[in-house]
Amino acid sequence: MNADPLPLPPERMPDLSALARRAVSAGAAARRCSVIAPFTGQVIGELPCAAPEDVQAALQRARQAQAGWASTPLAGRRRILMRFHDRVLAERERLMDLIQLEGGKARVHAYEEVLDVAINARYYAARARRILGPHWRRGALPIFTRARLYHHPVGVVGVIAPWNYPLTMAVSDAIPALMAGNAVVLKPSEFTPYSALNAARLLDECGLPPDVFQVVVGDGPVVGAALAAGADFIQFTGSTVTGRAVARIAAERLVKSSLELGGKNAAIVLDDADLRCAVPGVARAIIANGGQLCVSVERVFVQAGIYERFVGQLVEYLGRLRLGAAFDFSTDVGSLLSRAQLDKVQAHVSDAVTKGARLLAGGRPRPDLGPFFFEPTLLEGVTPAMQVYADETFGPVASLYRVETDEEAAARANDTCYGLNADVWTGHSARGRRLALRLQAGTVNLNESYAASWGSIDAPMGGMKQSGLGRRHGPEGLLKYTEEQTVAEQSILPLFFLPGFSRPLLAKLLVWYLRVTKHIPPLR
Ligand code: NDP
Repeated sequence: MNADPLPLPPERMPDLSALARRAVSAGAAARRCSVIAPFTGQVIGELPCAAPEDVQAALQRARQAQAGWASTPLAGRRRILMRFHDRVLAERERLMDLIQLEGGKARVHAYEEVLDVAINARYYAARARRILGPHWRRGALPIFTRARLYHHPVGVVGVIAPWNYPLTMAVSDAIPALMAGNAVVLKPSEFTPYSALNAARLLDECGLPPDVFQVVVGDGPVVGAALAAGADFIQFTGSTVTGRAVARIAAERLVKSSLELGGKNAAIVLDDADLRCAVPGVARAIIANGGQLCVSVERVFVQAGIYERFVGQLVEYLGRLRLGAAFDFSTDVGSLLSRAQLDKVQAHVSDAVTKGARLLAGGRPRPDLGPFFFEPTLLEGVTPAMQVYADETFGPVASLYRVETDEEAAARANDTCYGLNADVWTGHSARGRRLALRLQAGTVNLNESYAASWGSIDAPMGGMKQSGLGRRHGPEGLLKYTEEQTVAEQSILPLFFLPGFSRPLLAKLLVWYLRVTKHIPPLR
């Protein structure tokens, strides 16, 4: 615990007690959970935790409110989300203060959250009408049959969010669910509930009807599990281990879920890469949010021809980064979230070094800056016997590997149970694209670390293999919150009946029709 006061001027301190009152709870009897500021380790606030019955009551209220919300015309829902977009941008400084306060990250990474939420709100507000339809589809028999596809909201979406991006992860997946006409009950991480509660306040002020967006705070295995046990759709972001537990609940109930899980992401630096971009780019991917980012890079494969040059420059670059607790843009790397995170990161590094890995940069905690700070760290000589080789560290630690060919780079990058994100750094786009298509990763960035694919909001984002099931962003990120319904309308004549045609004759006619129409290209 750091005895120093928080470096946030008192006049900028958010009203945490008012936010705590927005949490769904059992009242005075509720267990309280404490939230700490990672910059100092001090307790900054206490909130009432929900019990399973509170979650059920929240789901029931949400179900009642959802009917009215679903019948609000799309234009009305759109207006509220556009207002939310404007408020998020207008209140960005206060939002960043709160994110940093409970998350301990550098302001530049808090800024990413504000941008992400605004971009999601704007994208889905602008595109929902086109994506949701209704759309005409080809009928059974052209002219005679017309089929129309409708998308209905699933009902109440349960969003379970992790602590690493407390605003983005809580709200950005809720936005398309709301836009589709669902109500949302959100369970943020117990470590970082305030940004989610603040988002609920903003949505209320933008005109969202009561109970359409509620926040339940509490212990994951209790509150998260209760939410998964009652929601009509589960949007989960977190570790692969917890994702499996949530998927089991969803499977048992036969409700749909979308799971955004862990990663052990690779950067591949080819021998024709421009190191002026590749070095800072790979560094950004290693240190983003102190490495506590699902799409951050923990493995770097460098082609032999430029290995020494690249590694030398990367070590130097990481050494120049500014670590520290500051509520402004003066630092590059913030704190880890907690003692548990720090212990895990340190254990991975110690295990690797004990087993023979070489430390090229960092490798130490920095208690002089705050209780959970850890230096950006590079390891060489990592082997499968070391924990850091295959397990997600979720810290600012990357292992460097020398590779000879593009094929070897792809094979080694794919040698993981995860498949979330990857980067390829090359001077030749075609070479980069060829390599990208061989990578088992849901998103691949060419000559950028992670922001290019994450920020391409019109394109789906999610994991292959054990990094997840389902996608966020793009039309996919909206349609998953809907039930599809086809309404087929028959006009002029019923199917399988033509006056004067016997059944055998009609059967022949249909076969003839299929043979002829095989050569007609589809209309769309
Ligand atoms: P966890 O899996 O520990 O927790 C995620 C959420 O699930 C939290 O709200 C947690 O609550 C809750 N939870 C815990 N246990 C259960 C349970 N049995 N049933 C239902 N809910 C439960 O992940 P972390 O919070 O530690 O987040 C880090 C992980 O998230 C990393 O693996 C990271 O890669 C991944 N992640 C993936 C992303 C993606 O897009 N693929 C994006 C961001 C992170 P509580 O915290 O209160 O215990």
